[in-house]
Amino acid sequence: MSTVTFFRGQQLPLEMHKVRIIQKLNLRPIEQRREAMAEAGYNTFLLRNADVFLDMLTDSGVNAMSDQQQAAMLIADDAYAGSATYTRLHAKLVEIFGMEYFLPAHQGRAAEHILAQGLVRPGTVVPMNYHFTTSKAHITNVGAEVVELITKPGLEVTSDHPFKGNLDVAALAELIAERGADAVSYVRIEAGTNLIGGQPISLQNYRETTELCRKHGILTVLDASLLADNLYFIKIREGEAADMSIPEITRAIADCFDVIYFSARKLGFGRGGGICIREEALYKQLRGLVPMFEGFLTYGGMSVREMEAITVGLDETMDFDMIRQGPQFIAHMVNELLKRDIPVITPAGGLGAHVDAMRFLPHVRQQEYPAGALATALYIASGVRGMERGTLSEQRDADGVEPMADMELVRLALPRRVFTLSQVEYAIDRIDWLYQNRDLIGGLHFVEEPEILRFFYGRLEPIGDWANKLVAAFRSDFGDSL
Ligand SMILES: *Cc1c(COP(=O)(O)O)cnc(C)c1O
Repeated sequence: MSTVTFFRGQQLPLEMHKVRIIQKLNLRPIEQRREAMAEAGYNTFLLRNADVFLDMLTDSGVNAMSDQQQAAMLIADDAYAGSATYTRLHAKLVEIFGMEYFLPAHQGRAAEHILAQGLVRPGTVVPMNYHFTTSKAHITNVGAEVVELITKPGLEVTSDHPFKGNLDVAALAELIAERGADAVSYVRIEAGTNLIGGQPISLQNYRETTELCRKHGILTVLDASLLADNLYFIKIREGEAADMSIPEITRAIADCFDVIYFSARKLGFGRGGGICIREEALYKQLRGLVPMFEGFLTYGGMSVREMEAITVGLDETMDFDMIRQGPQFIAHMVNELLKRDIPVITPAGGLGAHVDAMRFLPHVRQQEYPAGALATALYIASGVRGMERGTLSEQRDADGVEPMADMELVRLALPRRVFTLSQVEYAIDRIDWLYQNRDLIGGLHFVEEPEILRFFYGRLEPIGDWANKLVAAFRSDFGDSL
């Protein structure tokens, strides 16, 4: 395996790239960060980037491009129809996934919109290993039900299970027996389960799940947005794959599915998305929705420059050295946090490190959004912007009842190829300080709660005066340090 061993036995990830373009960052004094957080309604989505030091909100659309991607953008063929840029992207997708048809869309959720409009029948069910916010919203929006069939380790915060994203095949068989195959619009598998820690699915589970579907004539759909990390984990954690190349693993997964869709904001280090389809009939069934919602069939709402970057980015995703930096940095962060007894999701997944707010802040009730409170406190203490992935990210049901999330997580995403190890060390240090001062942190309540996707733009307030107390404690420990 192409990793480097250090002479003194240190375990450190080593980047197989160098930085050639930089962006200056601001680290504001804590008083200004506290002010900025108040202005943002204690919602990290509403912070201005200029006030953020390390942006660990998401891995979406913020992964670093390579020199090769930038170069490819110059040859973009800006034609409305028949663009050579489209031909190159299409050919690359055929090469890596082996599916003949492709529908472009402007990002992952746009692909989900088209799939939901075109394939999901009202009153049916869409089983999946685990939901993602936008995938669920599109499916329920057309009157179908999402059923999550994650295996038990998936919801255990600490585990040493290598594939916590696996779907429970027996539970799927039971559901099909109970409701009938006709009641299933399709089965969706999300590579690298976003909301429960970027946890991977094994090649074996991909095969078993889709085999069962095929037996019952049920359509299989892969959400490949987080596929790059999943490929890395299969390669290093699943015995049979150790000798397979990344393109071989990719094709082995792709061969299981009828449809593969993705957000190219994650897969391919660009900004865009699309749907790969195996059968012509299905392609024709969905095709009409693209010009209606996205754009003509050869760009689907994407810029041709981004399409060129995605084509090269997909090729780079087939290179182990290009996809291992993310998960290895995350593993380093998770291991360092564990050494300091800080509760995090284990094993380390893709996407980012996930701090368990339920155990970090056991004194904050779920109704007071411990993960939201911790994300707020972390920004104030460090300028690091994470994302709440807990009850705040859930939606009230038809009766206005707020469902409690399975987990309360603060996700600290590590955009691919973006941060240096010393920046990661800084984040670890400030989380450590926060953990030692966790008793200071209290809950949040809504002052403005939107009905749909409330986590994006809802406004909140701390319950009590804890944000100011946190600032005072920081000053007393760090003096006039930033
Ligand atoms: C981000 C993401 C999406 C949605 O993609 P966008 O490009 O942000 O619309 C869908 N599924 C998964 C698993 C994702 O991580």
